[in-house]
Amino acid sequence: MLHYIVNPGILINELVLGQRVPNEIYFEQVADTQLMERQYIKCRHCETMRDGRTWSSQHNTAFKNWFGLYCPSCEGVIPCLRNATAWLILAVTYPLWFWWIDKWKNNWLAKQPARYKNIDVQEITVSKTNWVKAGIIYGSIMFILMTFLFPLVMGEAITLKSILIAIPVWAIAGLLFVLLLKWWMGKRIKSGIN
Ligand SMILES: [Zn+2]
Repeated sequence: MLHYIVNPGILINELVLGQRVPNEIYFEQVADTQLMERQYIKCRHCETMRDGRTWSSQHNTAFKNWFGLYCPSCEGVIPCLRNATAWLILAVTYPLWFWWIDKWKNNWLAKQPARYKNIDVQEITVSKTNWVKAGIIYGSIMFILMTFLFPLVMGEAITLKSILIAIPVWAIAGLLFVLLLKWWMGKRIKSGIN
């Protein structure tokens, strides 16, 4: 969660892709079950505990959640964390969008029920997740952002050397990110704890 708030790269996930992390995540304490299958997100409007896999790329519901996570039970919106850089950009650009925001939100809300019609969370497991694809996407986004976009914003030069160094760096970072995520999502509670 801290990574979500402080990493400037997350700004693309949040503002462009609409990938969001809720303010609160609950973990069920069940032995021998992967963490991915034990994540619950509580709707603060209807108090329903929903399986975290309701919002996943397999159902095309992991992205386009610009206004928060939609709750299929009560049609409410579950509040989400805000990335610090995204927050700053939204604050600075406020005059550009405040006039249209209600209209955009209503349009967005109207499209949500159809997206959550056929959700079967049992289908999603760590072993069925395409981790290679996830690593490539993460590495590519970070590479473009840190090698081209950041120097541009900061007024620094983009050199062939900086590009050549960045390629292996982000390839390794993408691999580590996915390995860590895969390990974490697959974590089981040792039966000794229960
Ligand atoms: Zn709800």
